Amino acid sequence: MQKVKLINIGCKVNFAETSTLKTKLEEKGFTITEKFSDAEIVLINTCTVTNNADSDCRAAIRRAKRESNGAFVGVLGCYAQLNSEKLANMPEVNAVYGIKEKFQIPELLGSQLRESNKSIEVSELISLNFDFAYSADNLARSRCFLKIQDGCDYRCTYCTIPNARGNPRSIPFEQLPEIFREVSDKGFREIVLSGINLGEYNSKNMYYFEDVLHLIAENDFGVRFRISSIEPNLINKKIIDYVCNSQSICKHLHIPLQSGSNKILKLMKRRYTSERLFKDILSIKSINPDVCIGLDVITGFPNETDQDFQQTYKFIENLPVSYLHVFTYSERRNTPAADFPNKVPMKIRKERTNILKQLSNSKLLAFYRGQIGKIHEFLPEKYSENEKIQFGHTSNYLNCKIISDRKLENSFYLVQINEIDTDNKIIATLK
Ligand code: SF4
Repeated sequence: MQKVKLINIGCKVNFAETSTLKTKLEEKGFTITEKFSDAEIVLINTCTVTNNADSDCRAAIRRAKRESNGAFVGVLGCYAQLNSEKLANMPEVNAVYGIKEKFQIPELLGSQLRESNKSIEVSELISLNFDFAYSADNLARSRCFLKIQDGCDYRCTYCTIPNARGNPRSIPFEQLPEIFREVSDKGFREIVLSGINLGEYNSKNMYYFEDVLHLIAENDFGVRFRISSIEPNLINKKIIDYVCNSQSICKHLHIPLQSGSNKILKLMKRRYTSERLFKDILSIKSINPDVCIGLDVITGFPNETDQDFQQTYKFIENLPVSYLHVFTYSERRNTPAADFPNKVPMKIRKERTNILKQLSNSKLLAFYRGQIGKIHEFLPEKYSENEKIQFGHTSNYLNCKIISDRKLENSFYLVQINEIDTDNKIIATLK
């Protein structure tokens, strides 16, 4: 049967979907290969969150055709949904699949491989069902990304994702216990709850994200759960309590702040003020100072003056957060912000990104230093036979290495945080 190479670009939801597609291809008799040279078909799951993501996807398509010596190249995912014509015009592309069609690929491939014409299978985003997906190909088989929510209708002015992913939808609540057990039985020990706007989980207007956390906190599924990301407006007392106190929920929150300036947040049509998030973060840290909090920030949004940027810088500097993911604003087609006046020159956007990246490094170091001497729950991931080092993460997302002459079992360990290595990894020892 034909050999397929899969390439994933983008977020945790994409990763989960690529893994599920892999399973569906195998069920249909295709063989998965890691090597371009073996591949007769290359499928690329794309992302369109920024201009950089778009160009990464186009580069991946060109590379796939070149290194596979002319294999059939199919493109799916968000970029494919929004730019099907453009992608179909690339000489390297044989087929384009939309969000609705991605899991039909194993069936569609049969006839497409026989035809010489390009195929565009992209339908409109109406009456979307929830497509279940979780990653199953983490080499260490310790952590799995489980999609429980898809889509978003917030319409933030810079974001193109609602056009690519459609309206919010969620996996039915009643199915969750069985799925959690199934994933645990497969040997995974950490489930990263994933979604496009995860906190908007809503099962038939009866069960919300807090209910998912309640289910997890009240039952032992043999795994720990990590929240991939939550919008600031959706953080509430119950969620804070679960993250700070539940044994089964990782002490880690990733929050898309985007800006510390209320003027910019308003222009972005975000649904919170910086003061509100400030209060919530202080409340989390006062209950449990070990919780790791990361923020997404966008630099150079239209109308962001030096003063606005300074406000963002000072805001983050004063917040007890542990790291930042910094994105340089780029105009996305069909979004309101693309037509906003007072654009910030690209050079300044990038300078601001670099300044925040430096702030992120010092925040991470300060967080790591504050953890020395503490004891945390550790889950092993990759093992390096050459260096005799076991890598993995603690519940509060400390990136640790442990000197060990053997690979540790796929299970939870208590470790003591000892020191910070030159590569900014934490050296820990088993307790
Ligand atoms: S919350 Fe805003 S930024 Fe996030 S996916 Fe929805 S529209 Fe995009």
